[in-house]
Amino acid sequence: MPKKCIICGAEAKFLIKGTSDYYCDECAEENFSDISLLQTVEQKNKEEAGGISEDIDNEFEDDSEDGSEQEEE
Ligand SMILES: [Zn+2]
Repeated sequence: MPKKCIICGAEAKFLIKGTSDYYCDECAEENFSDISLLQTVEQKNKEEAGGISEDIDNEFEDDSEDGSEQEEE
């Protein structure tokens, strides 16, 4: 489900990291002189998916679930 800009309701592209304040690209630019301070929704989604890796933004294959929890036998 796409997040919406808290200002205009458009689809959000950015958020303030650690908050639920989402902004579309226009509002982000209007409200923040430096949008590099903001996290992209894309990045956030990746983090939530557990794929935190600084710079990898393509070809992340998910053929195996290697797990958040390990089961003992
Ligand atoms: Zn907006």
